[in-house]
Amino acid sequence: MPELATLELLAERRKELDGERVENETRVSDLTRDQRKADGEVENVKARRQRDQQRMDSGQVSSPKDLQSMQHEVTALDRRIRTLEDEELEVMEALEEAEAVLTRVRDELGVLDAQSAESESTRDRAVAELDGQAADTQTERELTAAKIPDSLLTLYDKVRAQHGGLGAAALRQRTCGGCRLELNGADLRELAALPSDEVLRCPECNRILVRTSESGT
Ligand SMILES: [Zn+2]
Repeated sequence: MPELATLELLAERRKELDGERVENETRVSDLTRDQRKADGEVENVKARRQRDQQRMDSGQVSSPKDLQSMQHEVTALDRRIRTLEDEELEVMEALEEAEAVLTRVRDELGVLDAQSAESESTRDRAVAELDGQAADTQTERELTAAKIPDSLLTLYDKVRAQHGGLGAAALRQRTCGGCRLELNGADLRELAALPSDEVLRCPECNRILVRTSESGT
């Protein structure tokens, strides 16, 4: 059944994709945390800068030396803010990229699940059809078996059990349909000499041989 091979492939791909999904979910969650942390740092430095600016603007700091030192600090804080904002931007870009990959992986998983569901229902229909055929064959077998003498049926079932389900085979062109071996001349002559109601057995595999119009005897 081709659906079984398809389902196997789909299951393999699903496992792969599921691994990618977990990996990317972790990445998105790590980057989200990094971004929040970077954002907090920027806000802290901005708040400190604002406090310094307010103190200078309010005139509370009168000493020119103190004012100058505060001015230096504000300039340093401005530089720090720019650096932190650049870093935050990088994290945000990486986060956006990871989210896009995660969306793609999730979409692909959705497509895969739909394909699997379709293959499963095709497989189920095929199995139901085979079950129907098996039931028909079973009925046909029972009807045929009812017409066969018990002793022959017992022999057939015994040989069938020994040969993986094939208890009887047609003899065509001197060849046994069970073991596919060609019978030698002596064996064929011996079989041909037997009465027509005698059950023939293949000298090679011991299966019941069924005479045909082209047995070759
Ligand atoms: Zn044979």
